[in-house]
Amino acid sequence: MGLWTAPAPPQISILFSRLTFLGGAVDRMSQSIEPPINEKTLIEVRNLKKYFPMKSGILQRTRGWVKAVDDVSFVIEEGETLGLVGESGCGKTTLGRTMLRLVEATAGKVLIRGANIFELNPQELKSMRRSLQIIFQDPYSSLDPSIPIGEQITEGLRIHNIGDGDEQREALKDLLRHVGLEDYHAKRYPDEFSGGQRQRIGIARALALRPAFIVCDEPVSALDVSIQAQILNLLKDLQRDFNLTYLFIAHNMSVIEHISDRVAVMYLGKIVELAPRDQLFKKPLHPYTQALMSAIPSADHDRQKTRIILAGDVPSPSDPPSGCHFHPRCPVAFEPCPIEEPPLKEVNPGHWAACWLME
Ligand code: SF4
Repeated sequence: MGLWTAPAPPQISILFSRLTFLGGAVDRMSQSIEPPINEKTLIEVRNLKKYFPMKSGILQRTRGWVKAVDDVSFVIEEGETLGLVGESGCGKTTLGRTMLRLVEATAGKVLIRGANIFELNPQELKSMRRSLQIIFQDPYSSLDPSIPIGEQITEGLRIHNIGDGDEQREALKDLLRHVGLEDYHAKRYPDEFSGGQRQRIGIARALALRPAFIVCDEPVSALDVSIQAQILNLLKDLQRDFNLTYLFIAHNMSVIEHISDRVAVMYLGKIVELAPRDQLFKKPLHPYTQALMSAIPSADHDRQKTRIILAGDVPSPSDPPSGCHFHPRCPVAFEPCPIEEPPLKEVNPGHWAACWLME
């Protein structure tokens, strides 16, 4: 068996086996959503918050907080793709990066098979990082232009001392083949590739350590439409072949529909709707989701045809509106909306929405 096709990294298995697993370890804090947990649950996000301080003056005093992620909870099952959609600035990218502990959380938990990533010591975190990867929107900015891409793809193997030189070269060939590149590409530099090829390099690099979970942060947003489809299909093939679990971040609903099993809709740092993909696209419940859907061109007669134009811009997360954060733009807002925040509730099995209309 080749290096790259080996089973899950042993350090991760050991780490997981000695940490408390699903069920009893999960501290049930007060929260607006209580997703079901089962043996297939890989990721649990519990009441996650990420606030950035706003500082001013000579003394750089904190004068407020930008609530980029504000009390978010959900689970992702093994082998699943959870699509995360919302307008720019709604907190999607911050949520993905906080889940991987690339930025420190303000509060809450992210449990990877029951192990809270925020409580791991540096050695445990280093081991855990092998099974958690990220694919960036702009692969070029994450690649070093002065180093051949083969070296960059196998960097993780060297950092973690996985295999000898021959095994790493063999793993590199495997990786290049799986993402649709050729052996000779290994010696080339990032600026010799097209945008789509660079994204393939980014995917190969994320795959090198055989991760279990990948945050795909707008991986096709910067690509031409024809190339987008190729990369989406590649990600789907790799997920099937290697049992990958994705959090797929995008602002394009068509992309989200193509790749997701379930979809979470985010607005101003909060999840306002969460549902299986087909359910969400057939019958969106939240007025914000309905507005996003109405912008999708579609030949499907079951889908809404009238474009819903939202009033105004997205408010600042440093000063969100009272009550339901969406109320100043909501076309159907009524009395309770500016006063009290609606909880995220399960309206139909597996279909959650935060809107007073659901009461
Ligand atoms: Fe609109 Fe009110 Fe529902 Fe918010 S709670 S989405 S303002 S109807």
